[in-house]
Amino acid sequence: MDKNSKIYVAGHRGLVGSALKRRLESKGYSNLILRTHKELDLANQQEVNEFFEREKPEYVFLAAAKVGGILANNTYPAEFIYENLMIEANIIHASYRYGVKKLLFLGSSCIYPKLAPQPLKEEYLLTGPLEETNEAYAIAKIAGIRLCKHYNQQYGTNFISVMPTNLYGPNDNFDLETSHVMPALIRKFYEAKINNEPEVIVWGTGKPLREFMHVNDMADACVYLMENYDYSEIGEFVNIGVGEDVTISELVELIREIVGFEGKIKYDTSKPDGTPRKLMDVSRLNKLGWKAKISLKEGIRETYEWYILLRSQPK
Ligand code: GDP
Repeated sequence: MDKNSKIYVAGHRGLVGSALKRRLESKGYSNLILRTHKELDLANQQEVNEFFEREKPEYVFLAAAKVGGILANNTYPAEFIYENLMIEANIIHASYRYGVKKLLFLGSSCIYPKLAPQPLKEEYLLTGPLEETNEAYAIAKIAGIRLCKHYNQQYGTNFISVMPTNLYGPNDNFDLETSHVMPALIRKFYEAKINNEPEVIVWGTGKPLREFMHVNDMADACVYLMENYDYSEIGEFVNIGVGEDVTISELVELIREIVGFEGKIKYDTSKPDGTPRKLMDVSRLNKLGWKAKISLKEGIRETYEWYILLRSQPK
């Protein structure tokens, strides 16, 4: 990848895509191709083929996906499996057809079996049943990994895959019904504080363990891998994480402290806990020479400041 390479970031308005765009621009990559959902429907095969034929990107970051938290995944499984399969199949096939030099596909830690040993090693893929609350999404992401693998195998393409842990940061989805836990809690504590509410409601028991990584670290890792490694060196895929996790209660305490909320915390156990633990083994990534840099506290603080700014802007 050189600074003038034509690079397509699919999903540049999302959490990961926007961080990739910032990272690439700050490193001096000046030839980015970007399309909003309105301009290009990635679930539409014909539109995707025409776009690739016209633009002929050399490098592709596949960060476009339909994503959501535990409730959204559990409520709209058909949309999660259909849209993600279509987006992946269309972009990966077009990348093969129009000669993309290298593609990076973004998966998710939910591809691992629900009861896999922890920390999760890359080789645990497809060794057991998945967590039910996000099975539809996970199946689509597993299909994406295998699309890359089999295109590489049959066509000699260079499509690499990465499996990020739970990500958070600017441009996340802060909708309380469909978001992940981090943005939901930042918003709940912020609103409870400014409205002087007596309590904040947290879903589940607070006992599940989750690993969280700031999206700027994620973008840094993705660009690093694109710059330095090929499929033959990485293998089927590589985990991207920080290698440490916290309980949801510990996360609640951290956010409560950063926001400065003094009221009560109530756990709503009628809401699902999801998988009990989801910690990535990051030794393969570390061996490739990359480590996360942003601490959880620092990352939450930065995200919270971004969120306050967002809320203070006129709609
Ligand atoms: P998951 O990692 O796929 O399970 O997705 P989430 O990020 O949505 O949820 C992680 C954990 O946080 C689950 O145990 C949730 O029950 C818990 N949680 C606690 N409060 C909330 C909340 O307000 N929103 C969400 N999405 N999850 C919450």
